Amino acid sequence: MNNCIFCKIKDKEIPAKLEYESNNVIAFADVNPIAPVHILIIPTRHIESMNDIDENNSSIISEMFEVAVSIAKQKGISEGGYKLLIRTGEHGGQEVPHIHLHLIGGAKLQEDISPVVVK
Ligand code: AMP
Ligand code: ZN
Repeated sequence: MNNCIFCKIKDKEIPAKLEYESNNVIAFADVNPIAPVHILIIPTRHIESMNDIDENNSSIISEMFEVAVSIAKQKGISEGGYKLLIRTGEHGGQEVPHIHLHLIGGAKLQEDISPVVVK
């Protein structure tokens, strides 16, 4: 996917503050952090959204979560707690069409899960 900004970060065509790198997964700082720790964990392979996950590629999701948990420990936010978030599609508010897991923490976070539907 040539035009994908997260593929470009993976290919080092766009700079990012890398926090983790392996064959399957990379993690980097969110450019617009909403908390003291805000890191995005993505598969190196372009997968658009959770809608594209099936039995052939689902292991990448557990790898992403393992990396998130490990980074949380490394950043010292495990005890206090944190939030992991994957937005999916338009209704889910996904802005970048390459799956990404948000690791958000480092402070007490506001509750943001509500039943409110945008009119
Ligand atoms: P989402 O709304 O779940 O699709 O989240 C997209 C996230 O990507 C937002 O939190 C953005 O701040 C972040 N983002 C967009 N472009 C970049 C970039 N070049 N480097 C790091 N984070 C980015
Ligand atoms: Zn991509």
